[in-house]
Amino acid sequence: MEPDPKAFSPGSTRAGINRIRFLLESLVDLDLSLKSLARDPYYQALDIKVKDYASSAGIEVFSPVSHTLFNPEDIIQKNGGKPPLSYQSFVKVAGQPSWASSPISTTISSLPCVGEIGSCEISKVPTVEELGYEDVEQYEWTPFRGGESEALKRLRESINNKEWVANFEKPKGDPSAIVKPATTVLSPYLKFGCLSSRYFYQCLQDVYKNVRKHTSPPVSLVGQLLWRDFFYTVAFGTPNFDQMRGNRICKQIPWNDDNELLAAWREARTGYPWIDAIMVQLRKWGWMHHLARHCVACFLTRGDLFVHWEKGRDVFERLLIDSDWAINNGNWLWLSCSSFFYQYNRIYSPLSFGKKYDPNGNYIRHFLPVLKDMPKEYIYEPWTAPLSVQTKAKCIIGRDYPKPDGAVKKRIEDVMPIATGHEREELEAELQGKDVLEINHPVGPFGTKEAPAVVKSYYDKRIVGCPGGEGEDEHDVVWFWLEKGKPHECPVCSQYFVLEVVGPGGPPDGHGDDEDHH
Ligand SMILES: Cc1cc2nc3c(=O)[nH]c(=O)nc-3n(C[C@H](O)[C@H](O)[C@H](O)COP(=O)(O)OP(=O)(O)OC[C@H]3O[C@@H](n4cnc5c(N)ncnc54)[C@H](O)[C@@H]3O)c2cc1C
Repeated sequence: MEPDPKAFSPGSTRAGINRIRFLLESLVDLDLSLKSLARDPYYQALDIKVKDYASSAGIEVFSPVSHTLFNPEDIIQKNGGKPPLSYQSFVKVAGQPSWASSPISTTISSLPCVGEIGSCEISKVPTVEELGYEDVEQYEWTPFRGGESEALKRLRESINNKEWVANFEKPKGDPSAIVKPATTVLSPYLKFGCLSSRYFYQCLQDVYKNVRKHTSPPVSLVGQLLWRDFFYTVAFGTPNFDQMRGNRICKQIPWNDDNELLAAWREARTGYPWIDAIMVQLRKWGWMHHLARHCVACFLTRGDLFVHWEKGRDVFERLLIDSDWAINNGNWLWLSCSSFFYQYNRIYSPLSFGKKYDPNGNYIRHFLPVLKDMPKEYIYEPWTAPLSVQTKAKCIIGRDYPKPDGAVKKRIEDVMPIATGHEREELEAELQGKDVLEINHPVGPFGTKEAPAVVKSYYDKRIVGCPGGEGEDEHDVVWFWLEKGKPHECPVCSQYFVLEVVGPGGPPDGHGDDEDHH
């Protein structure tokens, strides 16, 4: 926890200063709670003593798993020795937690005597200043305070609003909401053990029992806790989960190694205000809404910069106050389309995604004050503002705030070097701002035999991925060749597809037989 002057942000070698402080606050709070029981804690010494005593008496020691809803080992065993690789299959295998019907005890009346602790010294929790961070004042601190008391207060605030809990639908939240975030902000408390995920789960079940109807996984709040357990289980059962090499569930992709692009992203100078504002929130708050995390992770990897997901993961790991090994790696694998999710052409636009929620750009103005006077017409694309407007807003693009072109490459090689054939042409068109074929959006919400989903194609056949429908019909993407005149029915969800050729036709590779022969 000692300061590392070589790190790119204030903090130790691995943890940013915000997470260090959050941990210290949590420890102080724990200390106070335990002191109120009139006993000094020394858990490690106590644990070892109990274990030693038990083993010498021939008693087996059982250390229960309680950080997660389920024991990852049990799930893997139930699934035939391998972790389930989709959320749906995880939920199916997991079922209900065995402890769910018995209420979790939340009060401790007394602690056993610690007894002799030998030469161990019990000292109070140090402050950040005592750890060597004297100049802490100059940094903006996260608004979230560490500790169990704060965790329980936040939890109560959320669950007291029964309607909000009952209607919670993750993808519908507003990622730009900062006065009152759209989700619980309990992740840092779960990470540090200030809040039990099992207690959280039971509180949610209590709310569900008392309302007429409520949302369900994957979008409900219980669904969010199941995502957490899903990633813990896969991480636990996958060797080299935190890297591309040697990770059997990770696609091997030739990411680029451009440290300049990485630095522009990390330091909030890509020139895209929506992306940069999120990166400032990461640095200052150590927490961002889930969809905001999606946007910047997609942008760094498959969306724009094509930088290795492991590099982005490292930045998150350092700066997030909720940084969690299994969840962070799992989500980076997901967002970079390296595992779990493979629709790399579903990209979060750095221009229009944020605008949907926050047309006035208040979120950007808050985290990037240099743009606070930019008229709303230009706030998401300030480089398009006429010079007179930039002058009036006291923000000249290229001088006071970067132009995107400097940091963000636009050639197809930089975006998706592995794309070939017609996929390459589609991507090229996309980079020029054209959605030539609308191929990514089959017509119709869910294809049936009577009203099939129409997929457009330049050529007589193309690869299509069926993601299933909403809710129960959702499934892992199933890839198949869709051919002209040959409708296809998805074997999993029975969605029906047909191909409409809107280009020159013929085979997709090589564009016609002539070119295939020399
Ligand atoms: C690239 C990327 C990296 C991420 N890194 C982390 C991380 O290091 N630590 C972390 O806790 N979350 C991480 N997440 C997941 C998610 O964004 C956060 O858990 C969530 O935003 C925390 O806010 P909340 O507590 O208000 O969530 P709520 O929506 O209120 O959800 C309640 C709890 O469910 C769990 N949860 C919610 N979403 C997810 C998810 N997608 N995966 C796993 N568990 C989830 C969290 O424990 C969360 O506290 C990451 C997401 C992305 C896209």
